[in-house]
Amino acid sequence: MNDYLPETTPIWAGVEATLRELLTGYGYSEIRLPLVEQTELFARSIGAVTDIVEKEMYTFADRNGDSLTLRPEGTAGCVRACLEHGLLHNQVQRLWYLGPMFRHERPQQGRYRQFHQIGAEAFGMAGPDIDAELICLTARFWKCLGIQEVTLQLNSLGSSAARGAYRDRLVAFLEAHLDRLDEDSRRRLYSNPLRILDSKNPTMEPVLAAAPRLMEQLDPDSRRHFDGLLELLEVAGIAYEINPRLVRGLDYYGDTVFEWVTERLGAQATLCAGGRYDGLVEQLGGRPTPAIGFAVGLERLIALLSEAGYAGLKTDPDAYLVTVGEAAGRQGLMLAEQLRDRLPDLRLQLNCGGGNFKAQLKRADRSGARLALLLGEDEVKAGGVAVKFLREAQPQQTLPQERLTEFLAACLDDWRRLAEYNPIRAGEV
Ligand code: ATP
Ligand code: MG
Repeated sequence: MNDYLPETTPIWAGVEATLRELLTGYGYSEIRLPLVEQTELFARSIGAVTDIVEKEMYTFADRNGDSLTLRPEGTAGCVRACLEHGLLHNQVQRLWYLGPMFRHERPQQGRYRQFHQIGAEAFGMAGPDIDAELICLTARFWKCLGIQEVTLQLNSLGSSAARGAYRDRLVAFLEAHLDRLDEDSRRRLYSNPLRILDSKNPTMEPVLAAAPRLMEQLDPDSRRHFDGLLELLEVAGIAYEINPRLVRGLDYYGDTVFEWVTERLGAQATLCAGGRYDGLVEQLGGRPTPAIGFAVGLERLIALLSEAGYAGLKTDPDAYLVTVGEAAGRQGLMLAEQLRDRLPDLRLQLNCGGGNFKAQLKRADRSGARLALLLGEDEVKAGGVAVKFLREAQPQQTLPQERLTEFLAACLDDWRRLAEYNPIRAGEV
């Protein structure tokens, strides 16, 4: 579980702001959910023999003896909330959420015990149009963040009947090659054989390459759905690879599944994973409701962006107010509060804790501020303020204090236009 320090939080803020704006732009509404749910919810939805439920959940008894679990993912809680608050009655819903998830995994690069996901869920739409929309939305995430080296992988897990029949064929095939299966795969052979296809162990590669493919045994409805999706992706100009071995680690998926993967992150290559889960709402006590969603792993996305030098949302102050002497300290506080009233988006850092002129200027520089505002004995007497540019070759000047608001407003106008220029709104992506 990580601490995220001030040097990296601007990257988080930038990513979150971009993704939030895109989700909102596609008509998705935010939903905020508790971090803890009844353990049973996850056992019933994710599946009892999945990695998550078998060995990754943080489960504890609360003071009443109820078994609770820190959420390992967002979909189950989202469906629970929708059912509890009647959000799915005869209507479609497009929802998104952002927050920490918890899994007791072996920590390694790109794999943590508390990690963050931004996810979206769309309910009530059965056709491939919504699958295509969600994929277009995720493609736009990468486009707007300037990420190029990602590939879309697609598969269809078919209907549950087709999956059942396929499962039997797969088990029979794997039984015939028992001596070539690794320990993990033998353990899963009867409990969760589809998951064996997802094995990352290279020694399993030749057996798995020869395994029968679910994609070749889809029933006509699933085939039509999948072909419909491929056609829409072509219309949208989104390139994809079909990966017949793509399965998800959670039991509730069927038909469309997809992942965005990158070669830049080593073994933990999946940035975003999603798929259709038409059976889950009913399984959790609601009326049958088609549904599809995805989740983006933010730590992996941010690792990729940091490596590419993405700056995120700048948080350095615009100005740093230096005050030397007691009278200047008093006047400085008043002036600062006045400026904050008049210029609500001004980022102004006030020197606190004293220090001589030189020491304070050093702090001003270290703060990253563009301007130092200087208030010494002379300025206090004259009702002025000296302005020193810290990042530009411009001469220092002294202004009457009552002109400072106007002066700063003009500076902010210029800087905001350059620094917080938003490529999404500017229509340049
Ligand atoms: P994997 O096979 O890598 O364990 P998963 O099937 O468990 O993946 P999902 O539950 O689909 O993953 O989660 C969606 C995304 O969340 C992943 O693609 C990844 O980006 C991120 N993610 C999942 N588990 C972790 C983790 N322990 N640490 C960091 N990110 C994670
Ligand atoms: Mg996992």
